[in-house]
Amino acid sequence: MKIKAITIKDNEKYLRQVSAKVNLNDKNLKNNINVLAEFCKENEVMAMAAVQLGIPKRLVYLKNTNLDIINKMQKNETTENEENYNEARVLINPVIIERYGLTDYWEACASCLDFMGHVKRPYKILVEYFDMDGEKHREIFERFESTVLSHEMDHLDGILHIDIADEVLEMPQEERKLFRQSHPYNIVSKTGEYQDLLQNNSIKKLKK
Ligand SMILES: [Zn+2]
Repeated sequence: MKIKAITIKDNEKYLRQVSAKVNLNDKNLKNNINVLAEFCKENEVMAMAAVQLGIPKRLVYLKNTNLDIINKMQKNETTENEENYNEARVLINPVIIERYGLTDYWEACASCLDFMGHVKRPYKILVEYFDMDGEKHREIFERFESTVLSHEMDHLDGILHIDIADEVLEMPQEERKLFRQSHPYNIVSKTGEYQDLLQNNSIKKLKK
């Protein structure tokens, strides 16, 4: 069965819901994760939140946050191995505890059609989550992984990247790849409180 992502065109209201906390004894959990894994295998995505596939639970699947491979993908220079690279990480009930630094990137989303948004995200996040064995983890996610994971975690609260973008452009996937070659992932700051940096950055922009 071919799984399709729910888009803002099909059912925006569905995507706007706040996903429910996962019960670690949920008998459907394995099945839900298989759906996510299957979709990510078949599609050129970096990660997925379960709600995008009709599973409104706090579940995130990370497929590929390796910036080197992603940059090569934008130039259509990947080897077969790199194309199939899948880091296959599942985060259950993830919560961001702390946010540091500031980055920006032209994000896209399987649910937002060809709408690409310029979004600011923390460089580094401290996240608490459970794995499939029910073990609790506290882990730091840095660099591009922080961008991807922050984007997915917003989905769990019904927030889309186009909501928080400072600029939105509509562009088909092949054009986006070209565009990102000249507008790559950008690190503004690796340290400092994200909220402060975000505020200062907006003020500076206004002054210009
Ligand atoms: Zn998304």
